[in-house]
Amino acid sequence: MTSNLQGKAKPQRTCVACRQVKQKGEMVRVVRTAEGKVEIDIKGKIEGRGAYLCRERACWEKIVKSNQLEHALKSKIKQNDREQLGKAGLEMLKELHSG
Ligand SMILES: [Zn+2]
Repeated sequence: MTSNLQGKAKPQRTCVACRQVKQKGEMVRVVRTAEGKVEIDIKGKIEGRGAYLCRERACWEKIVKSNQLEHALKSKIKQNDREQLGKAGLEMLKELHSG
């Protein structure tokens, strides 16, 4: 089975929370920085190991409660940092949807 009809040469990424594959431009990148924190990388310019998430509340809520992001980034993330990231993500989604 092939599914090359759509999105020629458009990079696709898998959401670490729901595992859906979407076009990169539809996802939000998160990056583990050198300090071991996890940040939202809206412009895609932060150095570090990255993972991608949908612009869906459910996915951001999921990564706070699960360790899927840790697996994707191959590093420990403090619960507190995870909660901060989840909050920041939900704030970001609010802005995206209101703008
Ligand atoms: Zn998702």
